Parts: sequence; C-alpha cells; structure tokens
Amino acid sequence: MPPAKRSRPRSPSPRPASPHPASPRPARPRPERAAPDAQRVAAVLAALAEHDPEPRCALEHASPFELLVATILSAQCTDARVNQTTPALFARYPDARALADAEQEDVEELVRSTGFFRNKAKNLRAMARRLVDAYGGAVPREMEALLTLPGVARKTANVVRGECFGLADGVVVDTHVGRLARRLGFTSQSDPVKVERELMELVPREQWIAFGHRLIRHGRAICNARKPACERCHLVDLCPRVDV
Ligand code: SF4
Repeated sequence: MPPAKRSRPRSPSPRPASPHPASPRPARPRPERAAPDAQRVAAVLAALAEHDPEPRCALEHASPFELLVATILSAQCTDARVNQTTPALFARYPDARALADAEQEDVEELVRSTGFFRNKAKNLRAMARRLVDAYGGAVPREMEALLTLPGVARKTANVVRGECFGLADGVVVDTHVGRLARRLGFTSQSDPVKVERELMELVPREQWIAFGHRLIRHGRAICNARKPACERCHLVDLCPRVDV
C-alpha cells in the first residue's frame, strides 16, 4: 500500500509579522476650518459689499411674471442662455394669460435651448394657468402662495420675493452660494436647505438678498468651481479656503 499523501493545510498559516509594518500614510494636511466668528463674517460681508455695491439678479426681466419665468428656465442652465431665450418668449407671451393659453409645442420650441425644455414648457404653462385661475394673472407675494405654483420651489420663490418685492425669507442658495459658503467656512453642510439655515444665522436679515446676489457673482467671476482665482480674490485674507 502506497504511503498516504500528506494533505496540505487548507488555510495558509498567517504570514510572519513584518519587521517593518506599513505605517499609515500621513493624512494630507487640510486647511483649518475657521469658525465663522461674527467678526470675520462681518469683514467678509463688508468686503463683498465694497466690491459689489449694487448687486442685482442677473436674469433680465421687466416684471415679477418675467422673473418667475426666467428663474424657472434657469434650472440647470446659465443665466446668459436664459437671457438669450426670454426676449422671444416674452414677445410672444407677454403675460400669464397668454402663456396659460399657449400650445405646449410652441413653448417647447421657444425654450428648447435652455435644456429640459419639455418639462420646463409644461411647468411654465401650468404655472401661468394657476396664476390666472388663482391670482387673477398676478404673481403673489406670499411664500406659501408662490410654492403652490408648478415649477416653483423655495429657491425660485426667494428670488422673486427678494428681487421684485424686497421681501427676504431666506438666502437664495444655488450651486455658487453653497460652494462659496463652504469655502469661506460659513457652513459644512451640503444640503441647500441646511446651508440656507446656517447662513440665515450668520448674515443680518437686511443683507440676505444682496448677500445671495454677491456670492453668485463672486462665484462666477472669481471663485469658480474648478479653479478659484484666489490670487486675485479680495477675500483672500479672510477666507480659510476650505477644500480648495
Ligand atoms: S480666497 Fe479663493 S476660495 Fe476663498 S473666496 Fe476667494 S477665490 Fe474663493
């Protein structure tokens, strides 16, 4: 009878401990997150105001209705593109009644270049219809009423209330405002509603509207998403440049 083969152990024995255990890679130093103390916040607000004394909404409009339409179109689209699109749209549909009676395909054709044009055209027509049926064709000032309009969420309602009626319920938090608020160390939140809540704590109410416009303009001109131009930024001495 042949000798029985020696079976190999099923699991390998653990490797001997290395005399040079791998040391964890040292974490990349991150900029210190500066607490948004009141003095620094005030200095940032003052610097923003000095460089942008008369901030305005970049969406061209001549009435609350036009701003409402332009803001709905601005979702996932640049303001410049919206501004190229709205003159023809407003020439054809100058008010809520005209837009409420518009054909879907005709509106789609006019807003096609802003992207998501089918949904936007549908929302615009439904929004106009509700303005006519519930508010006599006028844009309401109340937040609750604005939020009942198709295609209108809190950000759009804030834009219209702030720009057209001088009413501030909060800070408009778009992609620029959220990014800059984080870089400036004003918030660590990424959810726009939470960012807005924290900014409302930091920024005096009378500056909410202007602050939003200023951050948007600063985000476009200098502190853009991919390559912030810190070397020519007037906030450089006040900014902890979080995650930059
Ligand atoms: S210093 Fe840099 S990161 Fe801070 S706001 Fe200016 S451009 Fe943005």
